[in-house]
Amino acid sequence: MIREKRDFYIGGQWVKPSRTNDLEVIDPSTEEVCAIISLGSEKDTNDAVKAAKDSFELWWGISKEEKINLLNNLLQIYIKRSSEMAEAISIEMGAPKDWSINEQSQSGEDHIRTFINKYKNFEFENYLNEEQGNYIAYEPIGVCALITPWNWPINQIALKVLPALSAGCTMILKPSEIAPLSGMLFAEMIHDAGFPKGVFNLINGDGPGVGTQLSSHPDIDMVSFTGSTRAGKLITKNAADTIKRVSLELGGKGANIVFADADEKAVRRGVRRVFNNSGQSCNAPTRLLVEKSIYEKAVKEAIEVAEKTDVDLANKEGKHIGPVVSKVQYDKIQNLINKGIDEGAKLVAGGPNRPSHLNKGYFVKPTVFVDVDNEMTIAKEEIFGPVVSIIPFSTEEEAIKISNDTAYGLTNYIQTNDTNKAHRVARQLRSGMVEINGVSFADGSPFGGYKQSGNGREGGKWGIEEFLEVKSISGWK
Ligand code: NAD
Repeated sequence: MIREKRDFYIGGQWVKPSRTNDLEVIDPSTEEVCAIISLGSEKDTNDAVKAAKDSFELWWGISKEEKINLLNNLLQIYIKRSSEMAEAISIEMGAPKDWSINEQSQSGEDHIRTFINKYKNFEFENYLNEEQGNYIAYEPIGVCALITPWNWPINQIALKVLPALSAGCTMILKPSEIAPLSGMLFAEMIHDAGFPKGVFNLINGDGPGVGTQLSSHPDIDMVSFTGSTRAGKLITKNAADTIKRVSLELGGKGANIVFADADEKAVRRGVRRVFNNSGQSCNAPTRLLVEKSIYEKAVKEAIEVAEKTDVDLANKEGKHIGPVVSKVQYDKIQNLINKGIDEGAKLVAGGPNRPSHLNKGYFVKPTVFVDVDNEMTIAKEEIFGPVVSIIPFSTEEEAIKISNDTAYGLTNYIQTNDTNKAHRVARQLRSGMVEINGVSFADGSPFGGYKQSGNGREGGKWGIEEFLEVKSISGWK
């Protein structure tokens, strides 16, 4: 079935694009066309920006209570239609059914619920100094462009739309043109929840088109972007002339330091984390650093995990991994696997080409390289596929040095039974997040990176703050 999805959501209704510019959306499991969308033109972008600008005063003025009612409506609609959301994500980016329901689609619901709670408790006004009447007000930054990627499509959309709405901003969402169906379904939900027209708008397009028009638009006050470091740099440059705020969540090349005293499951857990979502997570712990005294055992365990990880079609039930999102990504991953071999890393599982039981689709073998040197391309570049690179180390200092020797700084991981060592190492890792012993982050904790992994923080109260200006008023009383 080919879904006809050519319209944009502007000013509270679905409208035809101003000129025809079709793009086929490909189901990565089958390589067949699953939908047709339109790539917007400058006129479409301008219409969407105008709708958001015109509704700003109204939305800002609406009470917190009323905003919370609308957000709660959205939550209820999302829950009701969550299986449709899971299906859309599964088709557009290849997430296997179970993974799409339990992780991809579920992340949207979780973020909506968490942001409603954080928003309820967010203080938008307070005194810095009551005696001097120095009063601080947090106010919405204005009209925001939200540009999102395909790998965790609704997760990224919810992490931007919910705090922007809570802050009192109006917005134009440009979801990834490679995986636009989840975003379009989300727009239907926003519509049905009853938000005033123009508060949320959606326009499809690519980076050089709508993405660039939004980044440089004089009536846009902020761009919140998640995607590649490459596009993050271009957006920053395009936004410079209008001095808009640019918030970036970019790539990663996380280190997972496994000390000899780590728990028994540490290596297996780490390798699985890389393979999940077919390796397409910015926070994947793709560099597995293993202390030399347990190296041989760790390599064996990593191979076992790779060999036991099934790869199959997205519409099959079960715990397998699906394809990667596109031919472009497939080719990029194959090139990097070949580069790993050429540069002398030892391939011990997986490798080039599709798994033999699949004759089409963008499927990649779960791959393990060992004896990797941190200077090799596979240790430096984000592969964004199910590929893990194992690097040996001798001392704590060496592990920290290797971990930090990267352009990125999103998430690093530590596995040890020694709490003092874990604390010591965690504070020396140059990344926005450090996860110790597989303990996940609490709802509403800040997500974002150091260095070329970005400059913003999403999630919780930090996520709302991103969309606010801070006003200092003296003599208030
Ligand atoms: P991408 O940068 O190619 O595209 C992301 C979005 O940006 C898409 O909507 C695309 O149309 C748009 N875009 C591309 N070029 C643009 C330009 N010049 N101007 C404006 N918009 C532009 O990235 P992708 O391939 O879709 O996503 C994968 C990347 O995203 C990976 O590098 C991954 O690490 C990163 N990512 C980061 C996080 C995080 O929070 N740090 C989360 C998920 C993904």
